[in-house]
Amino acid sequence: MSMLAEPTGVPAGYEAYGDDKHARVGFFTDTSVCIGCKACEVACKEWNLIPEDGLVWTGESYDNTSTLGANSWRHVAFIEQEKPLRVGADGELGIDRDGDGDALRWLMSSDVCKHCTHAACLDVCPTGSLFRTEYGTVVVQQDICNGCGYCVPACPFGVLDKRHIPSSPPESLNLVEGLGGKMDGRVWKCTLCYDRLKGGHEPACAKACPTKSIQFGPLDELRERADARLAKLDAEGWNGAQLYGRDPDDGVGGFGAFFLLLDEPEVYGLPPDPVVTTRDLPGLWASTAIAAASVAVGVAAAFFGGRK
Ligand code: SF4
Ligand code: SF4
Repeated sequence: MSMLAEPTGVPAGYEAYGDDKHARVGFFTDTSVCIGCKACEVACKEWNLIPEDGLVWTGESYDNTSTLGANSWRHVAFIEQEKPLRVGADGELGIDRDGDGDALRWLMSSDVCKHCTHAACLDVCPTGSLFRTEYGTVVVQQDICNGCGYCVPACPFGVLDKRHIPSSPPESLNLVEGLGGKMDGRVWKCTLCYDRLKGGHEPACAKACPTKSIQFGPLDELRERADARLAKLDAEGWNGAQLYGRDPDDGVGGFGAFFLLLDEPEVYGLPPDPVVTTRDLPGLWASTAIAAASVAVGVAAAFFGGRK
C-alpha cells in the first residue's frame, strides 16, 4: 500500500524522484471559453484507443456522454440555465437582459481526473498499480491492476471506474482460450497522457481544444494565468466566476487539474467541499490499535488473575 495522505502542499511520492523529477504539470480548464464541441473527448478516445461507451440519448441534455467513466476520460457537461451571463456592478442583470428581464446561458465544462495533490486512490491501491509520476500526475498501470476496485469509492470525484466490457485483444494475441470474451474488470482513467508527456508533447485533449479552454503547463504558471483570467472576468461583471481546486487548501491539497467555473461546483456535478477520503485512516488505525491493546490487557489480566 502506498503512502497515506499527508497535510502538505506537495504530492506524496513525488519528491522521491529526486533529479528525475519534472516541474509539476496539470490543466487549467477555463470554462468561460468552452464551446462544448467535445473535441477533447474525441481526441482523448483516439489517442488512448478508448472503446465506445454505448452512448444513448439521455433526454436530459444535448450531452449524451453524461459522466466520466472507464470509457470516457474527458466529459463535457452541458448545463442550460435561466441566468444572465453577466451582472452589473449594482447586481442588476447585465448584457443578457431583454425587455422582460429573461436570461438564458449555457455552461459547458470539460471534466477530467483532478490529479489530486493528496490522492486517496493512491492510498488504497494494494498493488501499486496507481502511482504518482515524475510529473506529479496520477496514473493507473493497467498491467498490474487486479480489478479489486478499492480505488473506485476512494476517489471523492467519482473518476475511477471499472471497465465492464470484454478486453478484446487482437485475434493474433488471443492465445489463451476464452480470453477475448472475458470482462476487462480493471479500472481506467485519464493518464494526463503520460506517454505523450514522456515524448515531449502536450496531452491530446489540450492539443485538440480549439478555444484553449483546456490549458496545459506547469501548475505554478497555470495558477498565475487563472488568477489573471478571474480578475478580468470579475472586472467585466461575469456572473458567478470562481476558481475550483486552485488552492492547496481546496480539500485534496489542490488539484493538478483545476477549473474556472461560472457557477457553484455542484451545478456542474462537482463536490463543493471534496476531502481526501483516507484522511481519517491514521486516526482510525490508532483507535483500533488502542482497542486491541485494551482487549489483550483485559484477557491477560483475567487469565493471570484467575490462576491465583
Ligand atoms: S480525482 Fe480521483 S482518480 Fe483522480 S487523482 Fe484524485 S482521487 Fe485519484
Ligand atoms: S490528458 Fe490525455 S488521457 Fe487525460 S483526458 Fe486529456 S487526452 Fe485523455
